[in-house]
Amino acid sequence: MSARVVITIVLRVRTFRTESSRWSGAASARRLLMPARETEAIILKTFPLGEADRLVSFLGRSTGRVRGVAAGARRLKNRYGSTLEVLFHVQIWYVEKETRELVRIQQADLLESFHKAQSDYGLSTGLAVISEICELILPEHEVSEPMFRLILLAAREVERTGGWNLPLSYFAFWTVRLGGWLPRFDRCVACDSPFGSNAAYYDAHQPGLFCEKCRRPGMKLFRPEVRALAERFAGERLDRIEYEKSMQTSARELREAALAWIEYHLERRLKTRELLETT
Ligand SMILES: [Zn+2]
Repeated sequence: MSARVVITIVLRVRTFRTESSRWSGAASARRLLMPARETEAIILKTFPLGEADRLVSFLGRSTGRVRGVAAGARRLKNRYGSTLEVLFHVQIWYVEKETRELVRIQQADLLESFHKAQSDYGLSTGLAVISEICELILPEHEVSEPMFRLILLAAREVERTGGWNLPLSYFAFWTVRLGGWLPRFDRCVACDSPFGSNAAYYDAHQPGLFCEKCRRPGMKLFRPEVRALAERFAGERLDRIEYEKSMQTSARELREAALAWIEYHLERRLKTRELLETT
């Protein structure tokens, strides 16, 4: 079958589905249901709910972060239940209710899974950190195309390379940058003197980088090599950066600093962060 034929069939099926869900949406509008919506989405979190259902939080590419119930998703014969795994990339159909906060998930088709990362404890910890951060920083119903692309890029690289050190470092750095929380890397936030080739210092209790003179007890080192890696991250796509053994320490230090800034802005500790230290 040629690619064009496949695409045409897929488009037909899609159109049919959208039409049929529109019909059912229209029919149930009288019961306070809004018309069905469809979006590409990344599953952020799922929890068992009752005997057979799942509570699912997802980031819709065109809808932002949404929480909903997938009824019957935990039953064996349910066709889409297995697609609702953390960071899986899906096409999702759901209906909103005027009176409730949770949407009702009707259907999910798998676009991309991360089975290798999902089934390995160490790798799944990396995915869990991404999921926890997104769940906490992304406001509900607010579209964020850059974060959507960043999550997919990081998850794909964890899956492809079989390691989370570089992907998670890149993810944390860009999350801080997209959040507008990145401190100046060239000057001390307290006395404004330039770092030059000297190290800087930071902690999770205040934003910014400090110089040797202004550093407070307990602050962590932010070496010039870490600043250099951050500059690479700012200018290069993750999947074009070749991981070298020499980057290992800088990637870890940059990730730790970025996670500290994320925690500062969230005003809470990330639960998954400790798990990273043990994998
Ligand atoms: Zn200073």
